[in-house]
Amino acid sequence: MALLDIRNLSIDIDTAQGKIRVIDKASLNIVDGSIHGLIGESGSGKTLIAKAILGLHNSNWTVTADRMFLGKTDLSKLSQKERRQILGTEISMIFQEPSSYLDPSQKIHTQIESVLPKKTMQQRFRRILSKIKRVHISSRRLQIKELLHKVGIQNDVAVLNCYPHQLSEGVCQKVMIAMAIANNPRLIIADEPTTSMEAVTQSQIFRLLYKLNQLNNTTLLILSNNFANTSGISDYMTLVYCGQTVESGSYKQIMGSAMHPYTQAMLKTMINNEEIYEHKAQLYTLPGNIPSSNQLPIGCRLGPRCPRAQRICVKNPTLTIKKGHSFRCHYPIKLS
Ligand code: SF4
Repeated sequence: MALLDIRNLSIDIDTAQGKIRVIDKASLNIVDGSIHGLIGESGSGKTLIAKAILGLHNSNWTVTADRMFLGKTDLSKLSQKERRQILGTEISMIFQEPSSYLDPSQKIHTQIESVLPKKTMQQRFRRILSKIKRVHISSRRLQIKELLHKVGIQNDVAVLNCYPHQLSEGVCQKVMIAMAIANNPRLIIADEPTTSMEAVTQSQIFRLLYKLNQLNNTTLLILSNNFANTSGISDYMTLVYCGQTVESGSYKQIMGSAMHPYTQAMLKTMINNEEIYEHKAQLYTLPGNIPSSNQLPIGCRLGPRCPRAQRICVKNPTLTIKKGHSFRCHYPIKLS
């Protein structure tokens, strides 16, 4: 069953040069309880899609979609206030570069406490019965410590008394994950959660996210430009290029029978540890660069970089769906 179902999401941004369609008919179908990787190069629009899901867009954005459902809730019909209410309770976000999202003037304890759920009826009842404020404080403290233990921080007392700048990026990210799971959200969006971290810390964070999914059945949407890392833990993947979702499917479909030239290029960039490379052999990269938002190609935006491009590619390809595997391409790889 789909937890998040987005069809033909478009984002137009007002700029000095006029309206620019930065996201063009992106579709995303996230199965409840799964890990879904949204993969694309930097600047491909992953964060914009996440912001549109969260309703965190600016006044100069026009967001339209044929369908935008979180479970049975139509996100497009909610007011800004209602959108904010589901933030943190239904959907949480983990940002890249966590130290810049944590408040530098507040200790970690205060920051985690600020996102804890409001007092439950049980807590209120206990509070009235005991009439001792200390009981309530200690239960909040216990909750905070439990959250830190859940994300693998054992020296909780020291961390809780620190300011963000006194902690490493890895620990700050674990704190952000602890804050994200404080309200048991149904969906966590992790935006490049391991950017600029060492390889060991990266694998710790990915292991932690995987554990959250397995133990709590939390649905995860991981935004990443690292195909190799993300594909390792994803049940489903969607490839996005330049604001267009180009291919989507299960791990097996994407890794075993990729249809889109962009996915194929991403697969080729993965290093095969079993293959023997010649000394100084060049690793594969897709030629060219991602175009800037004010010079977007018409039709299929991969056109100028695509080895299979033909004249018809200036027209947007329609979406083909086969057994849950969807792609947009006039000349898909396996069908030709
Ligand atoms: S539609 Fe054309 S340009 Fe786009 S990926 Fe397919 S072949 Fe390449």
